[in-house]
Amino acid sequence: MADFADLAAEREQQETARAIEAARSRTSHEPVACGLCHNCEEVIEGAAFCDADCRDDWELRRRAAR
Ligand SMILES: [Zn+2]
Repeated sequence: MADFADLAAEREQQETARAIEAARSRTSHEPVACGLCHNCEEVIEGAAFCDADCRDDWELRRRAAR
């Protein structure tokens, strides 16, 4: 039977894993605007992609890559 210390440690691990996962998905879902479209490398300003199609393409390829 698990005691309270075990439960607390387990919960802490889950929290940490969730935080890491959240940070990971935050950075990977929102690439920074760098002056070029991340998908087709067209020069754009103030956005990471020139349009929704490019964003979808990029996400599909990113998902396929892992
Ligand atoms: Zn593009």
